[in-house]
Amino acid sequence: MSDHNAALDRAFHHAVSYLDGLAHRRVASNASYTGLVEKLDRPLPQAGAPAAQVIDELASDVAEGLVGSAGGRFFGWVIGGGLEAAVGAEILTAVWDQNAALYACSPAAAVVEEIAGRWILDLLELPSAASVAFTTGCQMAHVTALAAARRALLLRTGWDADADGLADAPRLRILTSGEAHASIARACGVLGLGRKSVQALASDQDGRLSEESLRAALAVAPTQPTVLVLQAADLNIGAFDDFATLIPTAKAAGAWVHVDGAFGLWARTSARYRHFLDGVERADSWATDGHKWLNVPYDSGLAVVLDREAHRGALSLRASYLTHDDTARDQIDWNPEWSRRARGFAVYAALRQLGREGLRDLVDRSCAHARALTAGIGEIAGAEVLWRPTLNQGLIRFSDPRPDAAEEDHDAFTDLIITRIVSNGEAFFGGTTWRGRRAMRISVCNWRTDEDDVRRSIAAVAAAVDRTRSDLGA
Ligand SMILES: *Cc1c(COP(=O)(O)O)cnc(C)c1O
Repeated sequence: MSDHNAALDRAFHHAVSYLDGLAHRRVASNASYTGLVEKLDRPLPQAGAPAAQVIDELASDVAEGLVGSAGGRFFGWVIGGGLEAAVGAEILTAVWDQNAALYACSPAAAVVEEIAGRWILDLLELPSAASVAFTTGCQMAHVTALAAARRALLLRTGWDADADGLADAPRLRILTSGEAHASIARACGVLGLGRKSVQALASDQDGRLSEESLRAALAVAPTQPTVLVLQAADLNIGAFDDFATLIPTAKAAGAWVHVDGAFGLWARTSARYRHFLDGVERADSWATDGHKWLNVPYDSGLAVVLDREAHRGALSLRASYLTHDDTARDQIDWNPEWSRRARGFAVYAALRQLGREGLRDLVDRSCAHARALTAGIGEIAGAEVLWRPTLNQGLIRFSDPRPDAAEEDHDAFTDLIITRIVSNGEAFFGGTTWRGRRAMRISVCNWRTDEDDVRRSIAAVAAAVDRTRSDLGA
């Protein structure tokens, strides 16, 4: 067997055994930091080793440190799995090793991205003339879209930010709700707009930015170049801002509207949830992820920009040694990177494996599992449902059973329960502070999660609560 065959053969073997093991293995890693370092920190070798041996040892050395987030009982953060076709396409992407910068480097990678981008616009019902960039994740999709916003808004004032920088430029402000994801502020920092330019406006009981606070903020500085960032599902409760009302209000005031739809935009494919997204197509830019609800492996983000010229003007690049194409799409014109992996193949493959119906079923199924998990856990003694999923996100708080327990004790008890569930290994949940109180987050967006996973996870939570309460003598 040739060397590459042997290495690929071993990699395939380890890949299949990892996937086969997902139903039985611990979800959380039980590796210790020092244990991992001990295994992996070999002396940097003088002489190389056979490829197959490197792969075998890599797989065994990291095994304990891997998290079963690809499996069906992982409900932490918002982390999708990898659909079979997308994983297969990722393997080929690595093997083909195409540079997805230019059509000339890989006509196949360029055309696949162009088509996958068009499919995404169609599926999410965004303007068909919009431009698309395939980024590492939603974070860089924000950077990409907000670079276009910065260009367009400042050009209107006669300032070319991309040529002249921001010193002495009119100051932009970014309005958003207090529920905005921290990646928005970071994008503003990277772009030189400044994290402090982000103003968090009030939201209502359902986590939606209030129109009144938007109108008031716009009125404070009616001529200041403004970006409004809206949420298509926030990370705690999956709240959607009221696009149909807020977007026209902001646009009438000259603002650029950007939508953070890291996972929530995919709800557009479901008859049951699409109403949350009514009017979202009227924004100027959108950011989402392939690696969350679409279940493409990491890294896979998508930026969509209505004003193609602003998008291209902010990012396009020409150099004498590059070969540009007049008919085809050169990815370097739309992306913040130069050389990069051909991440379009996996998106294309996921969309083909699912089709419109498969994606709709995945969204509906995830939301049903989130409701069942929240309801089932909510029935456990001492559990309180803080947020019943309106989409795929739920929140639970656990009460400290001691009679004199205060809110701080319930906070600590909730964190303790989360730690115990995670270390028990049967299921994985994360924590959050929501409206000033600690809570356990439930997020479902993995295509593998099924009813059995829901049942096993509820039982695991019940067992952890039971044990902890009896430890406390309750
Ligand atoms: C995950 C997430 C992000 C950040 O996306 P990455 O893909 O991790 O870069 C931004 N906004 C929301 C609402 C998210 O859930």
